[in-house]
Amino acid sequence: MPAGATPQKGKNIFQFSVLASGSKGNSVYIESEQASILIDIGIGPRVLKKRLEHIRREPQEITALFLTHEHSDHISGAGALTKKHSTPIYGTRGTREAMHRHVSPDVDWRTIQQEDETIVGDLMVESFATPHDAAESVAYVVRCGSKKLGHITDLGKVTPSIVEKLQDCDTLLVESNHDERMLVDGFYPWPLKQRIQSDVGHLSNTACADLLKQVKHDALKTVVLMHLSESNNHPEIAMDSARRVLGDHPATLFPARQKHPSVLIPVV
Ligand SMILES: [Zn+2]
Ligand SMILES: [Zn+2]
Repeated sequence: MPAGATPQKGKNIFQFSVLASGSKGNSVYIESEQASILIDIGIGPRVLKKRLEHIRREPQEITALFLTHEHSDHISGAGALTKKHSTPIYGTRGTREAMHRHVSPDVDWRTIQQEDETIVGDLMVESFATPHDAAESVAYVVRCGSKKLGHITDLGKVTPSIVEKLQDCDTLLVESNHDERMLVDGFYPWPLKQRIQSDVGHLSNTACADLLKQVKHDALKTVVLMHLSESNNHPEIAMDSARRVLGDHPATLFPARQKHPSVLIPVV
């Protein structure tokens, strides 16, 4: 595909774009022949529209919104999107209760369990629990045909069941939040540093690399480092840490960005 080209929707399409990633807002767009979903929407309607324009898509085309948890960097645009386009929201009961002020009471909310499987068109969305300081947070694995994309951000530690869920992914979107040394030496107040470091905080570059070591396999094609801290990380440091465990693995590796969407990337 030539640089900058946007593949059109059609048969056997399964592709994604990271629209935004980081503590100022998160959203990932995933589409197939029969569905277009967002995982999280921590950006407002104007930003969403602009980011989608980059990949020649529009907010009204979104079939469903899946939420990981209620922190504002993941939900701040939910109310506006559902109000304008009546987009259904999938999320856990805990997430709904914790964010009830952010969406209208008559929103089309479809409750999922922390361990669940949801069909949207030709996508199968599997949820599983994450250790995070939120009411009932989840990560997702999205399947289309034989292809598998894993999306996991906002977790304090990796558990054996998480490693198991993320086996055999063709594409992995995984949190690489902070460099431990930068966090400790940085200007954040001590309670916030403790929160980020805790088992219900965020995944460090080292913990991300350790997860990659456990789930990498020959057919892994794409790894995106997600939710990088602007204050306590640097894309090159996060990339070096991941590269060290990927070694000469040919997977494409890149850091997601806060202010710029990625192109549409096929899950192959
Ligand atoms: Zn977050
Ligand atoms: Zn969070």
